[in-house]
Amino acid sequence: MAILTNISNLNSVGNAIISLLFPNQCLVCKGGEFNSSDPICSECIIKMHPLPIENRVHELAVNDSVDMALAGWDFGDELRTAIHSLKYEERARIGTFLGKILGERLLSETIIQNLDYLIPVPLHPIKFRERGFNQAEWIANGLGKTIQIPVRTQLMKRVKHTISQTTLNREERLNNMKKAFKINEDVSDRNIGIVDDVLTTGSTISSMASILKNAGAKKIIALTVATPLERKNDTYTESV
Ligand SMILES: [Zn+2]
Repeated sequence: MAILTNISNLNSVGNAIISLLFPNQCLVCKGGEFNSSDPICSECIIKMHPLPIENRVHELAVNDSVDMALAGWDFGDELRTAIHSLKYEERARIGTFLGKILGERLLSETIIQNLDYLIPVPLHPIKFRERGFNQAEWIANGLGKTIQIPVRTQLMKRVKHTISQTTLNREERLNNMKKAFKINEDVSDRNIGIVDDVLTTGSTISSMASILKNAGAKKIIALTVATPLERKNDTYTESV
């Protein structure tokens, strides 16, 4: 027992030294040396405006084949800062962290427990090379670990390099997304969660959902960190 106490004392001394040498700083407000390895401080998390976990599928401009769409927070200033204007390593930390806190909020939802796996919205290889990362993958990894659902990054590939969606109307968006994805294995009777950072028009997720449903998938649920409450004039581009 004494040995255990000593070890835990040693651990806390070690942690104190580490936090003195490497004080943690909130990546959003740049403030605070707070006692946590989280990348965002609790004050910024509170300011992120959590939304009730409810089905938002009817709020989407395009929702074909999507059974349910869930989002954790309003896509307001704090989250925009968290998602943009960060260095690569910081983005990875934030992405995984946002997936984790989304997972904590979704844990009690029965619909989540019935999922077979998560698929992050894939980027086309050209886009991936340009950008160097896929944010949806980091979010899916944090989320999957928390809700204990496997993440399948290779199951669906983007085969068509789609152009930016923001200037297109609904019909053009749908045409743009047609045949943009390819499935690499049997998805019959699977319940699948499609993961992305922000839920806006729904066109990307809907396009993936249609392809998965045509291949026999049972239920498709969109799981996103955020959705803008004020959709009008929102120029944020979905993962394209
Ligand atoms: Zn902060």
